[in-house]
Amino acid sequence: MQRPRYKRKKRIKLKICQEPGCGKQFWGHPIAKYCPEHRDIKNRQKPKKDYDSIEKNNMLFRHNYTDVVEIAFKCCMVGCDNDFSVKVFPKQFVYPRFCMEHRNAFKRQNFLRNLRRQQAAQKAQEPKKD
Ligand SMILES: [Zn+2]
Ligand SMILES: [Zn+2]
Repeated sequence: MQRPRYKRKKRIKLKICQEPGCGKQFWGHPIAKYCPEHRDIKNRQKPKKDYDSIEKNNMLFRHNYTDVVEIAFKCCMVGCDNDFSVKVFPKQFVYPRFCMEHRNAFKRQNFLRNLRRQQAAQKAQEPKKD
């Protein structure tokens, strides 16, 4: 006698959308996180601004150090050659991108403004080629 073959049932569960402020219930896979509307990334809120500023002032430095070491980084500011030393900790991968002088956004803007002014002055001094 042949046993009837059943299709394996999909495990669908009643879930709650994880988009902040939504909280809609929907039927989905156990791993589903969002309701049908928020499954579309365009309908989701953008990540918080805090994250943004971390990205701007810091960099990801992947390393395998198991002890605290001091490493000299170069400032990521265009036109700045300053080195700055950073204590690198095991399992910590986010570090500042800028030297002490440029860790502040306002100072970075000032620096860029001065740089542009210097460049303009240099251009004006260059002898004209005819
Ligand atoms: Zn939702
Ligand atoms: Zn700098």
